[in-house]
Amino acid sequence: MNKCIYCGIDHDLSESDIIPDALTNARILNKNVCRIEHNNKFSDMFESKVINALSFITNELDIKSSKGKKYASYEAVVTIEGTDYNLKLHGDNEIFNGRVLKSADNTQMISSYDQAVKIAKDENMVKPLDVNTIKIEKKIKINNEIFFDISMYRMLSKIAFEWYCSKNSISGYYSEFNDIIKFITTGEGTNPVSVIQEEKIYEMLNQQVNLGSHTLFAIEKEYGEIDVIISLFGLLMYKVKVTNKRPDICKNNFLYTELRTDSSRNELVYHSYYEAEQKFAEDNFMSVGMINGMTLMVPKVMMPIPNAELYPILFNLAKYFIAVDDDITMPNDRLNKIFFTQLKNITQASTLQKKSIKRFVNETFYQGHEKIRLNPYTSNKKAVVLFYAVYLVGKSKEEILDDRILQKILREGLQNLNRKVFIVDDEMENKLKQIMMEDEKYSDVLEVGAQKIMNWQK
Ligand SMILES: [Zn+2]
Repeated sequence: MNKCIYCGIDHDLSESDIIPDALTNARILNKNVCRIEHNNKFSDMFESKVINALSFITNELDIKSSKGKKYASYEAVVTIEGTDYNLKLHGDNEIFNGRVLKSADNTQMISSYDQAVKIAKDENMVKPLDVNTIKIEKKIKINNEIFFDISMYRMLSKIAFEWYCSKNSISGYYSEFNDIIKFITTGEGTNPVSVIQEEKIYEMLNQQVNLGSHTLFAIEKEYGEIDVIISLFGLLMYKVKVTNKRPDICKNNFLYTELRTDSSRNELVYHSYYEAEQKFAEDNFMSVGMINGMTLMVPKVMMPIPNAELYPILFNLAKYFIAVDDDITMPNDRLNKIFFTQLKNITQASTLQKKSIKRFVNETFYQGHEKIRLNPYTSNKKAVVLFYAVYLVGKSKEEILDDRILQKILREGLQNLNRKVFIVDDEMENKLKQIMMEDEKYSDVLEVGAQKIMNWQK
């Protein structure tokens, strides 16, 4: 019989999104959560606040709720030819998409020419703008307060608790989780969440996970304490103490899940650090005999086990987290530096997956759009990479796309892409623009590419 892990009731249960649906493309569920009190209500209590505050990040990573049609909107100041406009944006490319823009000081308006003449009632008052050559600058204010807000700490506690329970098939209420349940449901009691401020730990994980992934990692400390480390979009890493003493029924205590923005995932489940170590050693080494009662092991040269490169990193992380307690709950200079480095990686790199390319094409090559001419005076690294991808698709002889063909086209067109993360700096941005603009027919090639991408169904 299934029972709620918060209160133990056995009726009106629901599937809880362990990570709110709006924050991930790779959903994970816990089925033992009652529908109203411990699922629906959390949304208003703390999840909505976090989701809204992170809308710029989810836009950058092309993450949206599976229920909603649109991407979450975020506020930006867009400076067009020196005048500021406060706008709510859903994506990058919809600034001029049919609407009337009013400047922040209320002295200027931008819209389509016909509409502008109608509003001004005098053609002489209207000045034409060429959107392909004007200077546009977009500024987004990123406030890192949300990352240290109690709503965030409650949401992370919920994620850690529900994930750990689901990996241990927990049904019903266990008093060992009393403290964390109290904090999640009321915001009272000791905050079990702290923020990791060791730069090397971030670097270690960066090597292993994809850009923008959520990573969850559970370890057992002495005396049965369970800590869950959560890396949120790879931006910040948190440690959540789930319990001081795990219930005996919880057998899986060395756990790892990576949830990627392309909705794929990577997972390890072991009873303990020790068991993971045994498995890793057995599969990667073999015995070549005994000397003085000691077994001699040598590495296998054949195929390594899946995730072979992940294990040593997890062992190092586990060793660190078991030995070191150096976390904080308030921002400091050290952490701000980490945060902005990680944020820069996310906003300057493009993941180039089906979802982001389709979204870009739908927003840019909508019906009735003007011929695309690249604006040499505006910098938008993500858009340039996506334009270049569309351009490559347009040039390619392939008519029908699928994931494999797209990756092949991109790989051949961007030699640098054989790295996991493709960072676009100013130089790369200019180079890609230049390649396209030197092609007299690039506008037409873009249309061909966009059409192929629009025709690409499931
Ligand atoms: Zn409940």
